[in-house]
Amino acid sequence: MRLDGRRMSDNVNDRRGEGGMNMAGGGLGLLRLLSILPGGIKTKLIGIGVVIAVVMATQGTSGLSNMLGLSTPQQENAEYVGTAEEQELYKFSAQILAGTEDVWTELFRQMGKRYVPPKLVIFKDAVRSGCGNATSSTGPFYCSADQTVYIDLSFFMNMKRQLGADGDFAYAYVIAHEVGHHVQYLLGDLDRMHEQMASSSEAESNRLSVRLELQADFYAGVWAYHDNKMFSSLEDGDIDEGLDVARKIGDDYLQKKARGYTVPESFNHGTSEQRSRWLKLGAHTGDLSRRDTFTPAYDKL
Ligand SMILES: [Zn+2]
Repeated sequence: MRLDGRRMSDNVNDRRGEGGMNMAGGGLGLLRLLSILPGGIKTKLIGIGVVIAVVMATQGTSGLSNMLGLSTPQQENAEYVGTAEEQELYKFSAQILAGTEDVWTELFRQMGKRYVPPKLVIFKDAVRSGCGNATSSTGPFYCSADQTVYIDLSFFMNMKRQLGADGDFAYAYVIAHEVGHHVQYLLGDLDRMHEQMASSSEAESNRLSVRLELQADFYAGVWAYHDNKMFSSLEDGDIDEGLDVARKIGDDYLQKKARGYTVPESFNHGTSEQRSRWLKLGAHTGDLSRRDTFTPAYDKL
């Protein structure tokens, strides 16, 4: 991607200085946290659970002062000094977020609506969100309770190492997918679907989740299309990078990789084929009128 001279978003909170909080987990039951990765096997995939446990043990309770501070993220603790690679990813993330703000502000205006951008929290190892506690192994996620996207930058480095998924557009896709969930929240689709999921069987709830996730992939593509129109940001091969990642985080691909077989009823993010198809549709058309992943028959998605 070409991002030279692009602005960084003001909506980024750097909470890496809070360190690994001693958090017992829990709290995720009522509010849903939407991760870009399918549940269940992501810890295995990312493989950093042990590292997190060690960090928590050594840093002890340094994060306790933040325990109550959901809405006061920047008032405490030493500033985190990242590696050059981390600082570069931080700047990149802030620039991509700014691009999503510009694109979605315009697309919402065209719909006669006002876009209220999400916050982006950059954390390290563990974080307390409005949807409960999370660690890096959750993967990047969106929480509608505080309208915030959460990312540990190590996810991008692990994408490269463990998925062989590399390239700046691949990272941009991850951010734009989470922002896509925020768009769903603003348009009312997220709450509507979550209500339906709450009164559905597990199998049906998984299918509704797939519909949400595929639409977030589509929105990521729509963002890329319009970001390129506004800023000429895309370079040759960028979209292919994104499609490659979309395939590598498909439920079937990840399940096969983790245990050698797939259980389609448990899919909750979509297959490699579906994820790459919806991302591609958004990226090639930029056409929001094609966003409906809710009414087509499930096997036609
Ligand atoms: Zn998602």
